[in-house]
Amino acid sequence: MTNPLLQDWITPFGLPPFGTITDAHFGPALEAAIDQARAGMLAIAETPEPPTFANTIEALERSDRLLDRVAGVFFNLAGADANPTREALQRDMAPKLSALSSEMTNNQALWGRIRTLWDARDSLGLSDEQARVLMLTHRSFTRAGAALGSADRDRLTEVKARLAVLGTTFMQNLLAEERGWFMDLAEEDLDGLPDFVIAAARAAGREKGADGPVVTLSRSLIVPFLQFSPRRDLRKKAQKAWAARGANGGDTDNRAIAAETLALRAERAALLGYDSFAAYKLETEMAGSPDNVRDLLMQVWAPARAQAEADAAILTTMMQADGVNGDLAPWDWRYYSEKRRRVEHDLDEAALKPYFQLDRMIAAAFDCANRLFGLEFTPLDAPMYHADVRAWEVTRNGRHMAVFLGDYFARGSKRSGAWCSAMRSQSKLDGETRPIVVNVCNFAKSDPALLSYDDARTLFHEFGHALHQMLSDVTYGSISGTSVARDFVELPSQLYEHWLDLPQVLEKHALHAETGQPMPPDLLARLLAAQTYDMGFQTVEYVASALVDLDFHEGAAPADPMAAQAATLARIKMPAAIAMRHATPQFAHVFAGDGYSSSYYSYMWSEVMDADAFQAFEETGDPFDAETAKRLEAFILSAGGSQEADALYTAFRGRMPGVDALLKGRGLAD
Ligand SMILES: [Zn+2]
Repeated sequence: MTNPLLQDWITPFGLPPFGTITDAHFGPALEAAIDQARAGMLAIAETPEPPTFANTIEALERSDRLLDRVAGVFFNLAGADANPTREALQRDMAPKLSALSSEMTNNQALWGRIRTLWDARDSLGLSDEQARVLMLTHRSFTRAGAALGSADRDRLTEVKARLAVLGTTFMQNLLAEERGWFMDLAEEDLDGLPDFVIAAARAAGREKGADGPVVTLSRSLIVPFLQFSPRRDLRKKAQKAWAARGANGGDTDNRAIAAETLALRAERAALLGYDSFAAYKLETEMAGSPDNVRDLLMQVWAPARAQAEADAAILTTMMQADGVNGDLAPWDWRYYSEKRRRVEHDLDEAALKPYFQLDRMIAAAFDCANRLFGLEFTPLDAPMYHADVRAWEVTRNGRHMAVFLGDYFARGSKRSGAWCSAMRSQSKLDGETRPIVVNVCNFAKSDPALLSYDDARTLFHEFGHALHQMLSDVTYGSISGTSVARDFVELPSQLYEHWLDLPQVLEKHALHAETGQPMPPDLLARLLAAQTYDMGFQTVEYVASALVDLDFHEGAAPADPMAAQAATLARIKMPAAIAMRHATPQFAHVFAGDGYSSSYYSYMWSEVMDADAFQAFEETGDPFDAETAKRLEAFILSAGGSQEADALYTAFRGRMPGVDALLKGRGLAD
């Protein structure tokens, strides 16, 4: 049988031929592509020719092209439109892909060629971009342990395998503890709760097989319960159970797992020659070092803590007026803060919703991209993987730039959340390849489709990632688009959200679905003012978690992580009425895998940059300033990972970002 995934795609813009691909094609195509990538890699390793940039590094870029192409289609479908066949294939492929990647970094002949090139790098006559790709290749092999002796390499493999088991166990324990606890509510305990919380509590009760409504530890139920329940005794019981997740003793306790994880990470870093796991982890990030991260977090901590203490005094007064004496506690904050919010920022979600029509918000995102970068969007009629997916051709001055797919509606087969991925990345090696980029969201389907304000922000956010792909202009695919440091990758997306907040954009595009009228100015003003409410609390709960994460991964691993956490909180004078956003036994970002370990700060790092970068536009007096947009494209949106992130940012802004714009944006500036 001919497999369309393995043929040339003779379609408009080389789109995947969705009309002829069936699920039966994916398994054989992925197997064939993995075999081809392995054969390509081995051919490079075993060639008798002395190593050159072309026959080694460029050849590696080419060796997995088919795999990129097939996997690009498959993994998008597996996330956006799953079915049992695709899920089974995904489980089957994960170990094969990770085996291919370790085979590559463990291949000593290949490593020898890369090291030879690296040692001779100054005499190879490489372009800046080539030098960068060589450095990144050499670094990723080194970080994987290619340069170690065989005993150390074996130990590293053992450590990584054990860390993977610990990460999975941590997550499973946490889920078990979250599922295992619930609190029965009597009918009179529902007093004061809004209808949607009551409905959620009743649904949770049915799901748990309880006689009546219950509160569970699911964030979407416990947070509104803590916000709205006037019953202090019940709030206290729920909050304490929530804070104790993963620390209840028994089989599902995560504290010993956290300790072992930290010890093995320290060992991993030491084997590879780093001072600490944080030093190892941050080497590839824009922040670069633990000191830079701590410096940033502490600059934000002081004003955030001051704001939180001032807010705590107001909330304490409200609590005393309710007849409750004593100190404001973590189970009181959300309740009194919600009361205060209703007084100060009365926002009626139902009145807002008709102003955010999906089609108008797509048009707004396109309109801003047109004004900033001259991009034009034309609907494209081609077979897609699902009837809800829409496609546009993206051009500039008549030149083809990209294909953009929007897959906006929720459905059972789609995983939750929102994301942007490239089915095909931009590159210029062997001729220009333009990207195919997809934004996937989970908006409720209705007619007309209406969004919440948060949904509209998500749409702009993902479109910012899409611009990073669509405007990419580099030679090598491995550094194109969003192939940048983790603490830099959210800059284009978070930055783009700022254009949605502009009154001129909302006046033009936030039109009432029935009357076509723009949003009244007072509603618009209240919407924008509400964005900074309770930022002292939100910043404190986040930064405290980020500082504990950083401390854990510097120096010797703590034998008792809970004691180390307490020491950090005491040192920074954590306000008593605020809990960490994620305490250690439930800190899945840090312990359920490596992703955000010593990198939980990166959300705030990106926010510092997006606030500072948007200020560059504001300083000109025109949020669509052409010169600033040109620099944004030249140094950030088109540049991918072709240079270090700090060099790219400095080229755009003339300096590194400061925290002033973030503090102002969060309402924490003096
Ligand atoms: Zn993002």
